[in-house]
Amino acid sequence: MRIDRFVRNNSPYNQKQVRRLMAKCLIKADGEIIDNGRFQITPFTKIELDDKVLQDQQAYYLMLHKPMGCLSATKDDQHPTVLDLIDTPYKQQLHIGGRLDFNTTGLMLLTNDGKWSQRISAAAERKPKVYYVETEQKISEQYREKFEQGVYFSRENITTHPAQLDILANHKARLTIYEGRYHQVKRMFGFFDNKVTALHRERMDKIVLDPNLKPGQYRPLTQQEINSVN
Ligand code: URA
Repeated sequence: MRIDRFVRNNSPYNQKQVRRLMAKCLIKADGEIIDNGRFQITPFTKIELDDKVLQDQQAYYLMLHKPMGCLSATKDDQHPTVLDLIDTPYKQQLHIGGRLDFNTTGLMLLTNDGKWSQRISAAAERKPKVYYVETEQKISEQYREKFEQGVYFSRENITTHPAQLDILANHKARLTIYEGRYHQVKRMFGFFDNKVTALHRERMDKIVLDPNLKPGQYRPLTQQEINSVN
């Protein structure tokens, strides 16, 4: 959003008055005087008008090792949710970037920055998501070809984007997918009537689950991890 519009919406001043305030060097963004009304701000830019703070919200970004038996939701009456694992004063502001099933474990990202989480989960962006998978039946070479071609999902009437399968053992594989359809991995293995018995997300785009985090633990993202989502 433009800074002049923000100030107009959050003060008694009209456009002409806002321009005058700018000319008098009375409007600041993150401590810098702004004299151009077109200057773009985000919900996390600190805005001051004549030293009065109009907006000062911090952005939070967390990586969580989601444990089993926990819902990817912020609130539920019956089951523990990922938010129940978070112990910070700002936890109510957080939302989830990329959900996981109740029994899926692994990397989950939580933030109050809507634009950032949109970017990481947007199907159109084709960001890779890497899963470690264990299955009931043997995984054969045929799976690799099929997943590379795409699997038809009748519910959505779509064919999944080419995915890469790395077979690690008879019942173990690593799968990289580029979208996040409902139960996507389970349904892809379901094409071969093969039940997924364990599913763990290792990576979302360039963000890798920190091996120091035990299930249920979390940590803030580093600046480098935050910036990697662009
Ligand atoms: N695919 C699934 O089937 N489940 C998940 O939790 C994530 C991807």
